[in-house]
Parts: sequence; C-alpha cells; structure tokens
Amino acid sequence: MSEVACDTCPRHCRLNEGAIGFCRARKAEGGRVVAANYGCITSLALDPIEKKPIAFFHPGENILSVGSFGCNLRCPFCQNDSISQSGLGEVPYQVVSPSELADLALKVKRERGNLGVAYTYNEPLVGWEFVRDTAKEVRSRGMLNVLVSNGCAEESVIGEIAPLVDAANIDLKGPSQEYYDWIGGDFAAVCRTIRMLHEVGCHVEVTTLIVPGRNDKESDIDEVSAFIESVSPEIPLHVTRFFPRYNMMGAHPTPIATVFRLADVARRRLRRVLTGNC
Ligand code: SF4
Repeated sequence: MSEVACDTCPRHCRLNEGAIGFCRARKAEGGRVVAANYGCITSLALDPIEKKPIAFFHPGENILSVGSFGCNLRCPFCQNDSISQSGLGEVPYQVVSPSELADLALKVKRERGNLGVAYTYNEPLVGWEFVRDTAKEVRSRGMLNVLVSNGCAEESVIGEIAPLVDAANIDLKGPSQEYYDWIGGDFAAVCRTIRMLHEVGCHVEVTTLIVPGRNDKESDIDEVSAFIESVSPEIPLHVTRFFPRYNMMGAHPTPIATVFRLADVARRRLRRVLTGNC
C-alpha cells in the first residue's frame, strides 16, 4: 500500500501502512492516518485551573485533567517528557471512552466540584479526535472543556476543536520561526491557532517559557507581546521561569529578575501579564 500523509500538524508526515508518525501518537492504518493514542489515558488528576495555567476563567475551581502520550515538538526543555516523548507500549495507560471520561467528570463534579475536562500533560492535538469526541460528551453533561496545547496544528483541526473549547492555554514559546526551528515547530501555525480560538469566543491565555540565551532578550518578549496585542491586548500572558529538564539538565534556571523584567516589557502592550514558577 502506498504512503498516506497526515494532515493534523504542519509536519505532514508521510507514512507507509503500519508506520508511526513523528509524534509517536498517530499511525497509518487501513490507508489513512489515525490516532494510535485514542482513549489511552496516561495521567488523570483533579487540578486547580490555575495550574494549567489559566488565571482568569473560573478562578479557584478545579478541573479533571487528562493526558495521553506523544507530542509533535521536540523542546529540549520539555517538562513532561516521560509521556510527551513516549510512544505506544512505552508508558502505562488505561483505555477510556469519551462517554466514560465525561461520566467520570460528572461524578467528580458531584462529589468534589469540577468544571469539566482539561486536555493537557502531553500534546492533546496529536490525538485531536479523542478531544473532539470527549468534548462533545462533556458539553452534553453541562460541563466545560479546557485545552492546554502547543498550538502547532493545522487549520482544519483547530476548526473542528475550537467551537468545543471553552478556555485554552496555548504556548507561544518564542518570537519567530527561528526559535520554532530549534524546537521543531511552526510559528505561523501557533499564531493562527491563538487567533482562531480567540475569534470563536474561546477564553484564551498564552504562556511563554523564558529559556536563558534563547528567548530572554527584551526584543523577544516584545515581539511575542506584539503578536498577542494584535489579536487582543486583553489576552493574559504567563511569563514563566525555566528549570533544567529533559535535554537541558545542564542549564541554569532563568534568573527570577529576568522573568520580572520581561513581564514588565510585556506589560507595555498587554493588560494582563503574570509571572510563573518564580
Ligand atoms: S500529528 Fe504526528 S503524524 Fe501527524 S503530521 Fe504531526 S507529527 Fe506527523
């Protein structure tokens, strides 16, 4: 059988039958590319929504947070590499259907308080079909959907998901394609995702992790802020501190003073700028 192309993210992997994509979450099966991680839950926790981080949407409430495995980026500073950089068979998981997960979210809501479901931990959009199907079930039970994503997905995927998402935190990890070349992503696609989510009325917040020597110049955060301002100056920006992780264990944490100074630079353009991990 000939190759099939995946149209989920800008990588557009071309896969022979049975092959796994770069994200390790999708595979070619029966002449099309499907989510191999569909319903495979590796992580499940009731988190404060502020932990996503989302600061201006139902503050003080909790949300059932789920993750699978796989990611289409290769950030050397990944904070969740045990699941994001794993593939099928490399990490324990439990298979859950969308309706089962939505029922669990409702049970947790009744027993402990819960807004709905947050799709997070690994990159949710490499398994966007599960997000879509679960989000519909969650909505039908009167609860909310929250997406935490790198935003590096094709327009068609965001077009399907955006109307189902009530709030999102999207990483805008750096100011340029040059930065995204370092982590294996597509800057324009991420910007498009942020704009599309905002335009459908989703509550959007953005996170930028400050990595020393990579995106810690004032001009870097000014360019990130300028893009967000062009969408809306009301969009909250989380400027967060890097700690050594994954393939950057030898690096130093971002100085706290740098994070605070860059947050002040962002405040020249944006009304709601927060600092994180400080
Ligand atoms: S989602 Fe995965 S399989 Fe599809 S193009 Fe992106 S990296 Fe490749």
